[in-house]
Amino acid sequence: MIKIGVLALQGAVREHVHALEASDVQVIVVKKVEQLEALDGLVFPGGESTTMRRLINLYGFYEPLKDFAKRGKPVFGTCAGAILMAKELVGQAEPHIAVMDMKVERNAFGRQRESFEALLKVKGIGDDVHGVFIRAPIIKEVGEGVEVIAEFNGEIVAAKQGPLLACSYHPELTDDHRMHQYFVEMVRNCVVHT
Ligand code: GLN
Repeated sequence: MIKIGVLALQGAVREHVHALEASDVQVIVVKKVEQLEALDGLVFPGGESTTMRRLINLYGFYEPLKDFAKRGKPVFGTCAGAILMAKELVGQAEPHIAVMDMKVERNAFGRQRESFEALLKVKGIGDDVHGVFIRAPIIKEVGEGVEVIAEFNGEIVAAKQGPLLACSYHPELTDDHRMHQYFVEMVRNCVVHT
């Protein structure tokens, strides 16, 4: 059975575990660097990217996480998780794990729209995907190898680059597990081909 980890330093960990468990995979709550080695894929949850980054540094996860993605292992980042993956952040000199060719702006929907829900058309998944946005980022620009898979009001809210998947919203906060199933399929394909 394939093994998918959820980085459990901070944020919506339990919800991702629950969403992944709806697929036939073994889910691992990752709290130690040593656990990364056995994984076929990894989820960066939503939460607070600056706090998560602090804990990543504190527990020695920085290089191992970067390495995990560089080795071509699939990573799925939601909300703050997507911020961690971006190679560029608007108004911030230093990105975090910086593995995906996209420029992301934090808290980009403005104060009036701190949190909201919307039905999204997500390429390869469906035109009725329930998106929960909480102080959500926007993917402002993507590089050449990046496929935009969802937009909301003309702004990019989900994208895929090879084994990397990122979205601005929280699919783990709904009972619709299709985004997670989609990621599980990415992981399965990757395991078959490596
Ligand atoms: N605003 C948060 C950040 O900048 C992300 C919010 C979320 O993950 N729901 O990290």
